[in-house]
Amino acid sequence: MMTPTPITHGDLKALIETYVQDYSMASKGKNLWRTPLFATARADERFNVLPKIAAPDHSLPKDLLPTGKSVVVFFVPFIKDLALENHEGKIPCRNWGLAYEATNALINSLCGEIRDFFKEAGYESALVPATHNFDPVKLMARWSHKHLGYIAGLGRFGVNAQFITPSGCAGRLGSLVTEAELGDHPLVSEKELCLHKNGQKCLVCVRRCPVGAVSAKKGIDREKCWARLKSNLHETQELSGLQPTSHVCGKCQVLVPCSLGIPTPEIKKEMDLSYAEKSI
Ligand code: SF4
Ligand code: SF4
Repeated sequence: MMTPTPITHGDLKALIETYVQDYSMASKGKNLWRTPLFATARADERFNVLPKIAAPDHSLPKDLLPTGKSVVVFFVPFIKDLALENHEGKIPCRNWGLAYEATNALINSLCGEIRDFFKEAGYESALVPATHNFDPVKLMARWSHKHLGYIAGLGRFGVNAQFITPSGCAGRLGSLVTEAELGDHPLVSEKELCLHKNGQKCLVCVRRCPVGAVSAKKGIDREKCWARLKSNLHETQELSGLQPTSHVCGKCQVLVPCSLGIPTPEIKKEMDLSYAEKSI
């Protein structure tokens, strides 16, 4: 049997960053993505908490790959212009929906590339699709990239249940399990990143939701949010003809202090000022 070749965190970083850059250059449309981020974690007992914090039937890394040694979670952030465009009005712009589809395709393709890279070095991997891994009744993910990212230290949850990374929350996540031993490489060690959860003034996301699905006390009302995502797809002109799984909104993800980076009171203040100027 072939002895596996060791893979370092640096090898994986180079692969992920180069792949997204090349993919972006090869796609004919405008570049949609900033530099991707990722965190790795040993596939150990820390993940046993998933059924408790994510969903009772959430899979564990060992369910996907019994010989798995590491979990890799990555985040592909959107460019600022896309976030700005989606801010207008109460219905998501068509480009936001198209970016959702393009990014899911990128994530699935990137996961395949990482799997092949590991395979060549002698390690098996298990993949899950970028989206719609959830229970349609409970609206809870059976494989939640966000909760895996939380455990791996890629980011933290906001009040709006969006996942705040060092590059913000406007973007999409992917993850996989592999036999390669990559160790723990978190990007975030703080308990929380959300301003409100850290006792600062914010709750901009609560005001942004067009259907009142986000609240300071209860977080996100999944049913209200899901109903809105469905009506956006099925009842609006903007998203007509998109894929049947393109359930998008993102109004609580854009032009909020945590959209593009770790939120600070200064960013919140700058945003308040620019709004004040706009309304003069
Ligand atoms: S907008 Fe403010 S309150 Fe809402 S998740 Fe972001 S930092 Fe937290
Ligand atoms: S995605 Fe849209 S509907 Fe859902 S909570 Fe955010 S703003 Fe509200």
